[in-house]
Amino acid sequence: MAQAHDGLPPLRDIVATHELAPKKALGQNFLFDLNLTAKIARAAEPLDGFTVIEIGPGPGGLTRALLAQGASRVVAIERDPRCLPVLEQISEHYPGRLEVIEGDALEVDLAALSRGAPAKIVANLPYNVGTQLLINWLTADVQTPFWSSMTLMFQKEVGMRIVAAPGSNHYGRLGVLAGWLAHAEILFDVPPQAFTPPPKVTSSVVQLVPRANPLPCDLAKLERVTQAAFGQRRKMLRQSLKPLGGEALLNGVGIDPARRAETLSVEEFCALARAI
Ligand code: SAM
Repeated sequence: MAQAHDGLPPLRDIVATHELAPKKALGQNFLFDLNLTAKIARAAEPLDGFTVIEIGPGPGGLTRALLAQGASRVVAIERDPRCLPVLEQISEHYPGRLEVIEGDALEVDLAALSRGAPAKIVANLPYNVGTQLLINWLTADVQTPFWSSMTLMFQKEVGMRIVAAPGSNHYGRLGVLAGWLAHAEILFDVPPQAFTPPPKVTSSVVQLVPRANPLPCDLAKLERVTQAAFGQRRKMLRQSLKPLGGEALLNGVGIDPARRAETLSVEEFCALARAI
């Protein structure tokens, strides 16, 4: 069997030997291209001295890149038990540097894994739970985030919603939340054929870094405002925000009631959240 750069067998051989036929229900679109996995790992550098948390290591392509790139401690959470023997093999190859947790990332408290050290989350996320995971991590503790960066693969359309600015069609609840708590940017796109099996759409690697001083604002209230405003995004705010105070609320914070949700800045949404 041929060897990859790191001395472990090539990923395609591993998937064949362990019969890891990709499962759609688990969002399994694997990356076998070592240049691409290395590019994602490099984008998250520096890795040494951080707890690197990876969601869904699968057959371990990105995990291996993170370790080869110098991550001193990787904690990987994988739901598919079929992948565990492969991950065990990687762990033996890099003694003491990889911990694997079998479980559902939606249920795992990532903050507890970081052991008080800054954590970097790096993942080719399962597309069916990716957005919910991001929201969970962003909102875990808005004042003191446990993560110092997130470098994450999403479907491109989701990536565009995360980084969207006011005025864009992609701007909505997710963009306001991400914009309030983080600086977010799309680093690069990844075409469908880079994955096995190829998904239907292009993907994007998005990087988020927490804002040092997010605007004072209550999360639950901000969500009430953005839910009402974007729930009827074509309507004027005097109409969509009627249940929360309508014109009086908007006039109180100096926002023209004839404006629509997608024109409001994150600062204006926070002002509304403070006023309700
Ligand atoms: N990291 C691998 C790669 O890049 O080739 C696999 C990425 S694949 C897009 C997503 C991975 O997440 C799969 O291995 C899947 O089994 C795993 N997964 C799906 N849902 C999960 C969940 N709720 N918690 C943890 N892992 C999950």
